[in-house]
Formats: sequence, structure tokens, C-alpha cells
Amino acid sequence: MTRTFIALGGNLGPVEQNFQQAVSLLNQLPGSQVIQVSTTITSQPVGASSGNLFRNAVLNLETDLEPLELLKSLQEIEASFGRDRSVRWGPRPVDLDIILYDEQVISLPDLIIPHPACWYRRFVLIPMAEIAPDVIHPVKKLSFLELKEWFEKKELHIQFSGGENQLRTKLIKELETEFPKIKFNDIKQVGSKLSEAPVLIIWLGENENQELTFEDLPEVSRLDLSGHQEAEKQEELFERIVEVIQSVISA
Ligand code: ADP
Ligand code: MG
Repeated sequence: MTRTFIALGGNLGPVEQNFQQAVSLLNQLPGSQVIQVSTTITSQPVGASSGNLFRNAVLNLETDLEPLELLKSLQEIEASFGRDRSVRWGPRPVDLDIILYDEQVISLPDLIIPHPACWYRRFVLIPMAEIAPDVIHPVKKLSFLELKEWFEKKELHIQFSGGENQLRTKLIKELETEFPKIKFNDIKQVGSKLSEAPVLIIWLGENENQELTFEDLPEVSRLDLSGHQEAEKQEELFERIVEVIQSVISA
């Protein structure tokens, strides 16, 4: 039996009822048993096209299913509620994400475990801190309670690293307008301004003029958003960053 954690989210239809139904469908999966379900919380939708408020919870599922079998089963359950996958972060009856699969770290084209956003999304950290406070995130090496507390520091402090100088400057300017209470800055070298640990460091990708690499950044706060460097992807990058910030600050 493997200990897994699954995040549930939804903002369409009778969400609470759907969550209960999802729990009973998960219990019917071969060699699987739901051990514990967190309280359901309400969170703001993230991104522009999501509609209503979201409801979120996490549950602990013990299972004999392999990771990809589990993903397939979750997608079948999502589909049984009539999920339309055409809009990213769009309205959905039930979204089921694998947060953890024991301490395994998996990086496949269709499956990343731990879930890449689970360590900073408030609507995952709150229910995880409720039912699994001492469970350690195998990459960040902090417990879910510690991760939740990490983001509850008084002042949210975000640094940018990597990518073109011009891009960082432009992003910081736009973000300061959008989020006047958040402190943003720019790091060009290891050691510069790293004495007081920033809450989140967003890595924008390798840059010829910088010696710094993603690996040089402190594990606990680094988030890799490289792959959006080209000019035509900058709008998408900005939206991704806004999505990250919203999911850190609101629940
Ligand atoms: P999101 O959950 O980010 O709102 P989707 O539910 O539409 O978006 O998922 C998009 C894709 O994420 C799925 O097709 C799935 O293959 C992939 N994916 C990668 N890692 C995971 C994970 N840990 N749990 C669930 N889906 C994952
Ligand atoms: Mg999903």
C-alpha cells in the first residue's frame, strides 16, 4: 500500500456533493482506501476565466495503484462529473490532482509528483496542514505545516532571477502596479540580497550574462518558470506569475 495525497477542487454544480461522490468512487478503485479527508475550504478563483469561488480539500488515499494508473483513474472520475478540459484553470465540477505519492519524486510528461504547485498554493497548504502537518515535501524538505507557515510570513517578498535583465525590470514594474503591497526585487548573483530569505524566488531561465543557475538558488523558495523567455510568451509568463501570487496570497 502506498500513502498518497489527492487534492480536490471544484467550482461548478453541487461541489460538496461531488466531493463526497469522488470519495466513494476513490474507495471503489482496486486496492484503494480513503483514510482521511480534510475540511473543505473556499478559495478565490485563480486566473481570468475561472468563474465562481472554488471549494478545495485534500484527502489521504492508500492505494496499490501505480502512479500512472492512479492518474488515469482520477481522470476517469473527473470525466464522470462532466469536466470540460478546454479552458486552462477554467470552471470545473471536480479537479483531482496527485499531491504526493509516498516520498517519490516523479517527472514524466503527464505526471509530476510532488504536484509542482502544491508547495505554494494556499488552498492546498491549508488542508494539507490540517490532515498531514508533519508529512515532508520530498523536494522542499519541509513539512506541510512548515510550508504553510513559510508563506504566512508578514511580508510577501518575491525575487526574480535568471532571464534577461530587461525582462526582469519590466515584470517587476508591472507587478508592483498590480500588487502594491508585495515587495519585489531582482537578484543577479548568488549571495546578493540573499541574507534575509525571500519567500519566493522566480527563476526565469539561463542567461548568457549571468553565472547563476537554478541550482544555485535556495531550494525552499525557488520556482522554475523558465521556458517563457521568448517575447511572444511574455504575456503568458506574466499570467503565470499572477496566478502563482494569487494562489499564495488568497484562500
Ligand atoms: P490543473 O490541475 O493544473 O488545473 P488539469 O487538471 O487540466 O490542470 O491538468 C492538466 C494536466 O496535468 C493533466 O493532463 C495531467 O497529465 C497533468 N499532471 C501533471 N502532474 C499531475 C499531478 N501530480 N496530478 C494530476 N495531474 C497532473
Ligand atoms: Mg488537475
